[in-house]
Amino acid sequence: SAVPLGGSVIPLVNKLQDIFAQLGSQSTIELPQVAVVGSQSSGKSSVLEALVGRDFLPRGNDICTRRPLVLQLLQTKTDEEYGEFLHLPGKRFYDFSEIRREIQAQTDKEAGGNKGVSDKQIRLKIFSPHVLDITLVDLPGITKVPVVTPANSDLANSDALQIAGIADPDGYRTIGIITKLDIMDRGTDARNLLLGKVIPLRLGYVGVVNRSQEDIMFNRSIKDALVAEEKFFRSRPVYNGLADRCGVPQLAKKLNQILVQHIKAILPGLKSRISSALVSVAKEHASYGEITESKAGQGALLLNILSKYSEAFSSMVEGKNEEMSTS
Ligand code: GDP
Ligand code: MG
Repeated sequence: SAVPLGGSVIPLVNKLQDIFAQLGSQSTIELPQVAVVGSQSSGKSSVLEALVGRDFLPRGNDICTRRPLVLQLLQTKTDEEYGEFLHLPGKRFYDFSEIRREIQAQTDKEAGGNKGVSDKQIRLKIFSPHVLDITLVDLPGITKVPVVTPANSDLANSDALQIAGIADPDGYRTIGIITKLDIMDRGTDARNLLLGKVIPLRLGYVGVVNRSQEDIMFNRSIKDALVAEEKFFRSRPVYNGLADRCGVPQLAKKLNQILVQHIKAILPGLKSRISSALVSVAKEHASYGEITESKAGQGALLLNILSKYSEAFSSMVEGKNEEMSTS
C-alpha cells in the first residue's frame, strides 16, 4: 500500500517528523526544517503569521514565545482552513483564536505561567489553500532590552546572524529576513542590505513589512497588511528592480524552494538510515514473539510505518516519481 504524499516531499517529511517526535529521545534521525532566530521583538512571530496569512500566535510586549513551536504549513486544494496539534490528534481548530489559546495553555503547562522557557516542542499543522508547504520552527528569542529595531539596527551586531553563523558557518542554509522596513530612519532604506552589500549571505535576503503594534491594536487583519506591504514596495522607487527580494509572498516562495531542494539532497542518506532502523525494529519485533500484546503491537505498528516510508523513499530516491500521486 502506498503512502499518500501530496504534491511535494515536504508532507512526507512532516509525517516522519511527527512519528519521530512521538517516539521521543530514541529517535536518531534528524529531518530538515526551517528555524527562525532573532532578537526579541524583531518580528519573528509576525513573519510566521504573515506566511500563514492568519493571526494565531500569542502576543504581547513581553516574551511570548516560550516553547519551540514547530509549524507545518500544508497546502490544501479545498477552501478549508484549520489547525491541528500533534497532542490533540483529530481535533480540527477552525477558529484561529482558539489555536492561540491552546498554544498559550500548552506553554503555561510546560514552561510555567510566568516567564519560564522550555525546550519541549509544540507541534502544529496548518492546512490552508493560501500557504506553500513549509515547516518552520518559532523559537524563543534572545532576551534583550528591546531598544533597537531590526531595519535600523546595525546588521553587523545582529543576534540572528551570530546564531545562524554558529549553526551554519558556511552559510548554505541561512536566509536573511529584514523586518520593519516601514520604520527606518527617514532618508535611509534597506536597498544595500537586501543586495547583500552590507553582509553577504549565499541565499540572500528578503525584506518584509508586517503589522505594527498599532495595527494589531486596531485589529487590522493580516490580509489587509499583506495588501499594504505590496503597496509599500510598489510605491518606493528605491525598491524597484528588487521585487524578488521584497515581501512575504517572495519569502514563502524562497523558503519552499530551499526546503524542497534540501530535502531532495538528503533523501538518499535518510533512506539508508530509515532502512537500517527498519531492520533493527524488525529484529526487535521478532524477539518479542507473543509475550506482551502491547509491546508486540507497538512494534508491529512501527514496523508497518517504517516499511511504508522505506518504500516511499525508495521510489523517490530512484526518481521514479518527481511528484508522487495520492493513492
Ligand atoms: P518576535 O518577538 O520576534 O516574535 O516579534 P513580534 O512578531 O512579536 O513583533 C514585535 C513587535 O514588532 C510587535 O509589536 C509587532 O507589531 C512589531 N512589528 C513586527 N514587524 C514589524 C514591521 O515590519 N513593521 C512594524 N512597524 N512593526 C513590526
Ligand atoms: Mg515571538
